[in-house]
Amino acid sequence: MPDGLEEIEMPVRCPACGNNTLRSVRWLKAHLQLGCDTCQETIRLDERGSRDAILDAEKSIARIRRRFLDPS
Ligand SMILES: [Zn+2]
Repeated sequence: MPDGLEEIEMPVRCPACGNNTLRSVRWLKAHLQLGCDTCQETIRLDERGSRDAILDAEKSIARIRRRFLDPS
């Protein structure tokens, strides 16, 4: 059942201008790079640290889902 948790938006910090660009966790999982909303710099999402952060967010969502949404 879709619960919308993957639509939660995460800020991604641009290394060039320092501004945050918001994208949903679902979007971040499906893309390898994004364009900064402010300066159009390409921000890579496939570097190890970036991937880890996205996976951490996904794990947190799974925990929230188990804790609050699943019938026990
Ligand atoms: Zn930027």
